[in-house]
Amino acid sequence: MPAATKVSVKPGKLLIDGQWVDGSKKFETINPATEEVLTEITEASAVDVDHAVEAARRAFEDRNGPWRKLSASERGRLIWNLAHLVEKNIDELSELETLDNGKPIFESRYVDMPMVIDVLRYYAGLATKIHGETVNTFETAFTYTLREPVGVVGMIVPWNFPLLLASWKLGPALACGNTLVLKPAEQTPLTTLKLGELVIEAGFPAGVINILTGGPETGKAIVAHPGIDKIAFTGSTAVGKEIMRGAADTLKRVTLELGGKSPNIVFSDADIDGAVKGAINGIFYGKGEVCNAGSRLFLESKLKDEFTEKLAARASKMRPADPLDPKTRLGAIVSQEQMKTVLGFIEAGKSEGAKLVSGGNRTSVNGGKGFFIEPTIFGDVKNDMKIAREEIFGPVLSVLTFDDVDEVIERANSNPYGLAAAVWTRDVKKAHMVSRRLKAGTVWINTYGLMDAALPFGGYKSSGFGRELGAHAIEHYTELKTVWLNMG
Ligand code: NAD
Repeated sequence: MPAATKVSVKPGKLLIDGQWVDGSKKFETINPATEEVLTEITEASAVDVDHAVEAARRAFEDRNGPWRKLSASERGRLIWNLAHLVEKNIDELSELETLDNGKPIFESRYVDMPMVIDVLRYYAGLATKIHGETVNTFETAFTYTLREPVGVVGMIVPWNFPLLLASWKLGPALACGNTLVLKPAEQTPLTTLKLGELVIEAGFPAGVINILTGGPETGKAIVAHPGIDKIAFTGSTAVGKEIMRGAADTLKRVTLELGGKSPNIVFSDADIDGAVKGAINGIFYGKGEVCNAGSRLFLESKLKDEFTEKLAARASKMRPADPLDPKTRLGAIVSQEQMKTVLGFIEAGKSEGAKLVSGGNRTSVNGGKGFFIEPTIFGDVKNDMKIAREEIFGPVLSVLTFDDVDEVIERANSNPYGLAAAVWTRDVKKAHMVSRRLKAGTVWINTYGLMDAALPFGGYKSSGFGRELGAHAIEHYTELKTVWLNMG
């Protein structure tokens, strides 16, 4: 394993009001592939949160200030500048993401970062297309609506797609004219800190984008702060509930992108090899630390043996390896804590009587340190087993079988989550009928995991509410005002 690359972001600093400032309390961020300390990071205190919110508030409220004076087109141009700088720094950002998160450099460089750029460019273009409408009411009245920015947005992001999920929030918030306080996850702050440098270079006025590193305490202070108008959160369902409760006192707007336990349903008339590939990507992409991972694979009973054999054959070739190696497709689990959680689920699967088809162990790369887990597949999984019910957030697939369409829809929907689902069949009617009946924010037919900046993403049920990406995200970053003019 190569030695950790030098980390050249502003370590230990917070970006408040356009300045890098020191904080007193520090914590370390670890490379999960080597267990080495990458650098020291500041944990923003409640006072730091106050300062960041004050700066964001000033930048938002000052009607003669540089942010409010920008036209929509000029705001779009700044977002475009930022996209351009992300592209210019794509190699460094990709490497930082891989060092901090353990994901393969192939994913950081060719999936995460290109999508960050796409998302920013999409919202750069959308900035000039945000509008209210005139509405015909009375002959004696002129009535219309205005879409106005919500104000100061608090953004709280998890560790699995650090910069990507930040961009899903930054893009629409800035396009609509909001200002913001952004907190990356404590495990993966590095790319967001680098973004802070690019924000300054792109020309955003001071106070528009503030970056606070820290853990749950910093997050809580953001959620409780009366100067924040809206919280955009991505993370676990448990924390999502806490955030909703915390936001209630100040009646903040909230959008929540939470966990998942997505069903991936394969009918016997599907393209089997395509479905095997889709099932493998659906669970092992991103080490399974993906909110929409296809973690419940439902196979029509007659497919069980052939399909499971093909899955096992593919999984056995996916050895976890050095995340910085461009050939690696399975990296390191983000942290020791997450690794222990995943290994706990594997033990639960064994003790509840599921059949271990492949993997199941912690492993190492070249005999070194690091938090690696073999790609793991359980067969003979029953609906009531822990590994079929709960989000594992790791490279562990639960394979279940079914005999009938109504039965599989009922079982797929019986889980509290509703983030995503997939259906594999050559029967077009069945594909659409099943898609309609699945309670999920996204349904893929004969594919898995595709995303686009233009398409909304979000959950049903315990997977949250509100949608990110696409034009609909604008609704969550604006207030709608109705104006009446008496012409009588
Ligand atoms: P997490 O909920 O533990 O933490 C997410 C963020 O919230 C971190 O920045 C953390 O510091 C902060 N936080 C923790 N406790 C807080 C509190 N009480 N108040 C305010 N902030 C707090 O989640 P995680 O472990 O980082 O991420 C994994 C989870 O995220 C999984 O459940 C996954 O499904 C979900 N996720 C969902 C989506 C989606 O789009 N639906 C995308 C990615 C991840």
